[in-house]
Amino acid sequence: MEIPDVIKGILILVFVFVPIEKALAFHHQKLLREGWFTDLCYYFSGYFIGHGTTKLLIIFVLMSQGSIPILSKFVGQQTLVLQVTVAIFIGDLCFYFAHRLLHTVPWLWQFHVIHHSSTHIDWLATVRVHPFEQILTKACQMIPLYLLGFSSEALAIYIIFSSAIAFFIHANVRVKFPILKWLIATPEFHRWHHDRYPQKYAQNLAVQLPILDYIFGTLYMPENEQPKLYGTRLNASTNYFNHLIYPFKNWNKKNADK
Ligand SMILES: [Zn+2]
Ligand SMILES: [Zn+2]
Repeated sequence: MEIPDVIKGILILVFVFVPIEKALAFHHQKLLREGWFTDLCYYFSGYFIGHGTTKLLIIFVLMSQGSIPILSKFVGQQTLVLQVTVAIFIGDLCFYFAHRLLHTVPWLWQFHVIHHSSTHIDWLATVRVHPFEQILTKACQMIPLYLLGFSSEALAIYIIFSSAIAFFIHANVRVKFPILKWLIATPEFHRWHHDRYPQKYAQNLAVQLPILDYIFGTLYMPENEQPKLYGTRLNASTNYFNHLIYPFKNWNKKNADK
């Protein structure tokens, strides 16, 4: 019997990240820390929501005449390396602005607060994302890339890279990347995004390219300092189904949970 991809995925993540986090832990925390089961529910639901969203976006783009012809001819002629590099830049730029809105528009924050409710940041915390936010950010990242006509190989590499770096930046590891950290998002970079008491209203909003935060004035990565507490006032132990309805119950709230 063939093992379903969703199970293979979680097994690969466990085999890769559990030993690494055990050996190189930044914060010493239990493997089954608070909220682990909630996050496991997010992993399984998010897997299917992610795949469904990708299929719907492709159908949507095809129904709306597909990619922009002049651009797609030009983009499709470029080397695979250049296409992937540009796709990362455009994808993260779109994510940056969507993420900025998630932090600054009160009703959007009620969805995004779920991701920030984790009091323990590790690889499994990556997937704690409300389904509405998951669909919104995926559409913001992928629709421009589909319309620009990147090759299917370039998009496939981009999607794998995006997933891998999302888990990497949440990893509970103390490893520092002295030069690399300015070029590509690292755990040190993203931990500051989850800081319980951020220095800036929203800091380190990119998830792949820290230079975007540098350009837009939201970079915060001081030397020799690390955040000590994560989370928001939203109780991290709230179960999965309470998370799902949370934004709808708090629609009119200002950003009081921060
Ligand atoms: Zn955020
Ligand atoms: Zn995060």
